[in-house]
Amino acid sequence: MPNHLSISQIDKYLGCGESYRLHYIENKKSPPNVAMIKGSAFHKAAEINNTQKKKSKKDISVEQLKEIASNDLNSRLSCEVWYTKKQKMNISKTKGDAKDSLIMAIDQLSIHTKDVMPIEVEAEFDIQIPGIKKPLKAVIDCITDDNRVIDYKVTSTKISQFDTNINIQLMAYALIHRVNYGFFPKTEFHSYLTKNTKTYGHQIIFDNLSIHHNEDTISPLLNTIKVVSESIEKGIFMPAAKGINKPFSCSPNHCMHYQNCKYINGKPMFGL
Ligand code: SF4
Repeated sequence: MPNHLSISQIDKYLGCGESYRLHYIENKKSPPNVAMIKGSAFHKAAEINNTQKKKSKKDISVEQLKEIASNDLNSRLSCEVWYTKKQKMNISKTKGDAKDSLIMAIDQLSIHTKDVMPIEVEAEFDIQIPGIKKPLKAVIDCITDDNRVIDYKVTSTKISQFDTNINIQLMAYALIHRVNYGFFPKTEFHSYLTKNTKTYGHQIIFDNLSIHHNEDTISPLLNTIKVVSESIEKGIFMPAAKGINKPFSCSPNHCMHYQNCKYINGKPMFGL
């Protein structure tokens, strides 16, 4: 079991307690899927650009950014990947689509990173929240010289302002910034929505969604961390809801444990 808490752990637990248990306690970890790999390659390009920009105050060229992202994507795709059934039917097309949409996202990054002047990049923070046993750990993509905290998202679903307002990741970043710098920053999702349709092909839609949290608006985060950490301590691992209109995370395409999950697959019990 990890000796710290993180927002990804909390999100995993809230999505499915059984999936959390298998991942963090039984150590049954799935290889990354293609969407995660694409997101990591995008983050690598943003990280390298922002790291050098701290000193140079200039962005590197879009061609260099594309080369960094593309090399990172290829190297990750050459390791173990978790493909969906549909992706497995044409892996080279899946890889090609991932590359095409990544390159288009990098084009957008080069436009929307111009007003970002980083002072911290991929910085790791640890804070101890009173009443919670384990420290909360987070790696923040970028903190800027005009007091913004930026989290990059490469996503296939649109993030709304409502999603942004209630998102506990941004609340955590706001709290971490307040603890380390003495005041609440403006927190931002830089969202790169990737679409691929028969009519328009690959499209990237950039959106900057922001929220300025304060002491009151982060209380949902503290309440969530408290109930999740107490439930984990007590060994409570509820399975995800299943069926019609239920979260899509509990499906063969989204959960690697699906084929063996005891909450999905029946077996004879009590000799009946
Ligand atoms: S198959 Fe469903 S219930 Fe089982 S671990 Fe996966 S998400 Fe949870």
